[in-house]
Amino acid sequence: MWSKAIGIDLGTTNSCAGIWKNGKVEIIPNDHGNRTTPSYVAFSRAGRAIGENARNQIFMNPSNTIYNIKRLIGRQFMDPEVQSDVKYWPFQVINKNGRPYIQVEYRGKIKQLSPVEILSMLLCKIKESAEIFLEESVRNVVIAGGPYFNYSQRQAIKEAAMIARLNVHQIFTGSEAAAVAYNFYNRVSKERNILVFDFGGGTLDISILAVEEGLLEVKATASNAHLGGEDFDKRIVNHFVFEFKRKFKKDLTTDKRALCRLRTACERAKCALSSHTQAFIEIDYLFEEIDFYTSLTRDKFVEINMALFRRIIKPVERALRDAKIDKSHIHEVVLVGGSTHIPEVQKIISKFFNGKELDKSINPDEAIAYGAALYAASLSGDCSEQLQDTLLIRVLPRSLCVEIGDGVMKSIIKRNSSIPKRKYKILSTDSDNASYLVLKVYEGERTRTKDNGLIYEFQLTGIPCAPRGVSWIEVCYDVDSRGNLYVCVTVLVSAVDKTHGRANKITIVEDDRYDRLLKEEFEQMLLNAEEYNAEDKKIPEKERARNRFERYLDNLRETLQDAVTWFNDNQDAESEEYECKREDTIKKISCEAEEFDD
Ligand code: AMP
Repeated sequence: MWSKAIGIDLGTTNSCAGIWKNGKVEIIPNDHGNRTTPSYVAFSRAGRAIGENARNQIFMNPSNTIYNIKRLIGRQFMDPEVQSDVKYWPFQVINKNGRPYIQVEYRGKIKQLSPVEILSMLLCKIKESAEIFLEESVRNVVIAGGPYFNYSQRQAIKEAAMIARLNVHQIFTGSEAAAVAYNFYNRVSKERNILVFDFGGGTLDISILAVEEGLLEVKATASNAHLGGEDFDKRIVNHFVFEFKRKFKKDLTTDKRALCRLRTACERAKCALSSHTQAFIEIDYLFEEIDFYTSLTRDKFVEINMALFRRIIKPVERALRDAKIDKSHIHEVVLVGGSTHIPEVQKIISKFFNGKELDKSINPDEAIAYGAALYAASLSGDCSEQLQDTLLIRVLPRSLCVEIGDGVMKSIIKRNSSIPKRKYKILSTDSDNASYLVLKVYEGERTRTKDNGLIYEFQLTGIPCAPRGVSWIEVCYDVDSRGNLYVCVTVLVSAVDKTHGRANKITIVEDDRYDRLLKEEFEQMLLNAEEYNAEDKKIPEKERARNRFERYLDNLRETLQDAVTWFNDNQDAESEEYECKREDTIKKISCEAEEFDD
């Protein structure tokens, strides 16, 4: 059991944190009093800003305002998803030893920051808000959000948390968290199949769960990692860029700041269209001093985005297929994530489920944080009666495979298998008299290893020399209930009796992942984080000093003005009066100086 833990919905666009307190989940407000915090970090000459302060200055400083960082976490620079994303971001992503880094200007200097560092800044901010709210230090977290993270991504999140001085108990999906929240608030007594439709800023994640009396069993998951609210925004932006070109014969895409302002206005219009049939866009001096006033109807919004709307059912169908459940057997469809506010989205889902009424019992913007907080409380050993009967049985999001030098994936544990799970496979060597072989652990569904994610690779020695196919190895994958993978490989001496004569045994765990940060690099990030935090602390100190000096100058000005006025009004005073006033003025000024020194 651990000490008190908070639950964090780590969103691509917004993040939200909750804690189980006084018999209920409380959403933790940030320093602006808001219940969600934009997942934005900005750098400037003045310092660093996180959350609302970062998002609000994006027009002035687009190339140093970082968002969508979750999309870069644990990925390689050449990853096609990274390559497709970088085209749309106003900040610069560079290739550093194969990994994406963000280049910013901070206090007049060029800095290159890893996604892990940026994420740690966000987590640090959430931690600070939680500590103020709870009036105690916070060390433990459960993180939910987005789809199933792969091993590299999970490790990167853990590293970011470590830099923020947080210990991650568990990382789970947004859908799982939402299902925990749904189950908690609806108290499902007889078995029901629920489908969680989690549609946020960047991704669409579907989970199908069987729920009964506090037991939640994930049956299948599916997602589209490149479909979310931002894709709608991009299409609206393109629509208005075209309209601007048509009206004014000018291409505003050459101006980053103008594009940024247009994107923000388009997102606002999109949100307004969830409750109104028409939204207005009014931007003064958008480009070359041209004011841009226009409007968008809900019908036009749907038309512009029709191709995207058509894609939302595909992952639903895939999940149903994997779960081997007909759509008529889905009892409840739970909506989660900002983009589920869109009426067209609701219409399409409801229609797919034959006109079914969709469940909106939990706030779609906070559901994940609620579930994460509930899970955090139960993992921390909170004894509250309400928490006693929630057990989540999870599934493996991707198949776990092995490759021994031939480029072909050999599946060991299949996708969507419930975990914990242990599976063995016996493989024969593929070359003559090899005394060693390289064994690679992959995750993914494709047949060629090059198309899947490499988790780990190691060399296995001590294989008795024998012709190809005569030596055998036994591979055992063991995944625990938290999703950790343990791999055990045994060289078998005899092909005839494969269960005896074990000659070699190696065990690896998830933490030994392949592209783990180098230790020195990680230590450096810890140092950097301390430096940034110290710089941030300097800002209020600097402001305090500036205010004190300003107050002193104000007082001084007032005293002097007072003396000058008296002097002008008393051109004919007695010498004692002048002396008296002079001494009085000097005394006042020195008192003010003393006050200033305090
Ligand atoms: P999330 O990742 O769940 O915070 O969702 C963020 C996405 O939801 C962003 O793309 C928002 O623009 C979008 N969003 C939030 N509220 C609404 C709304 N009322 N109507 C349409 N989209 C919304």
